[in-house]
Amino acid sequence: MKMITSLLAAAAMSVASFVAPSFAQDKGMVGISMPTKTSTRWISDGETMEKLFKEAGYTPDLQFADDDIPNQLAQIENMVTKGAKVLVIGAIDGTTLSDILQKAADAGVKVIAYDRLIRDSGNVSYYATFDNFQVGVLQATSLVNGLKERFGDVKPWNVELFGGSPDDNNAFFFYDGAMSVLQPMIDSGDIVVKSGQMGMDQVGTLRWDGAVAQARMDNILSANYSDGSRVDGVLAPYDGLSRGIISSLRGVGYGSGDLAWPIITGQDAEAPSVKAIIAGEQYSTIYKDTRELAKTTADLVDTVVSGGTPEGLDTTTYDNGVKVVPSILLTPYEVDATNYKELVVDSGYIKEEDLQ
Ligand code: BGC
Repeated sequence: MKMITSLLAAAAMSVASFVAPSFAQDKGMVGISMPTKTSTRWISDGETMEKLFKEAGYTPDLQFADDDIPNQLAQIENMVTKGAKVLVIGAIDGTTLSDILQKAADAGVKVIAYDRLIRDSGNVSYYATFDNFQVGVLQATSLVNGLKERFGDVKPWNVELFGGSPDDNNAFFFYDGAMSVLQPMIDSGDIVVKSGQMGMDQVGTLRWDGAVAQARMDNILSANYSDGSRVDGVLAPYDGLSRGIISSLRGVGYGSGDLAWPIITGQDAEAPSVKAIIAGEQYSTIYKDTRELAKTTADLVDTVVSGGTPEGLDTTTYDNGVKVVPSILLTPYEVDATNYKELVVDSGYIKEEDLQ
């Protein structure tokens, strides 16, 4: 009898512990709409958030839109239909979401712009990103430091400029930040842009496409550098573009014989580009810890859902055309051959073996 009682007690306990999770608070669905899988950062942003939301008691719905705007609209619409409470959106084109966000607002769904500002809509609650102007400042400062280091004695330096996708608000912040450093040096004659191509309307790279950057670099080289002059530096706003630019330069002999690599910048600390930095082909990149952005966003969502007020917001910088969207701005870091180990390997952002 005693044994039966203790068996029953054990069974009851195991049922209790088995059943318990279904009583865990279900905080509702969070739609996570990421722009693309072509760059590793967006995959890890999405997957990190998916994990964090699960841990916090939400049901995440993670979708990648393959850089296709109608695809992203359909995915977001589907999330609203399925009853998402909150949408976290990394927009492909930050100006295309107004209609769907109106539907979301009508259904009481809160919207967080993730890393990229959503423009032309009043229905964006918050924006979580990095200090994007500072990204550009860091890129240009690194470019100038590299130019001094590698070509210090031969001035002016020939520099070509690349911008990000003109439908991504960030691209303008990166470019403006960089030009805050470079424009005075162009004005003083220390830097020459031989192609004459300046301004986002001339240097933008639609959808951040490396092949587009490569083709533009090919054209710049044949039109402006066939006379024996050399490119000393390239402002590139993203590692995927830097790799296209490097291919173009390699094609005409840079990096071999006496044609030293120009100083080439980047962004995102992608493994292939950190390898290119170690190999001396790319000079630097910008490290933005996307794990931190994902965590900050998950916490922000939790605060919003539980009716709290987020703290430490920037309420002046990001005007989306309808409102200034309260923003959380995390810190970006410049990474080069001297500090990549400490910043991206020791922090666990990239595994040492992925750099072999
Ligand atoms: C992000 C960058 C990224 C770029 C291309 C920008 O919006 O802020 O980190 O390099 O998109 O994906």
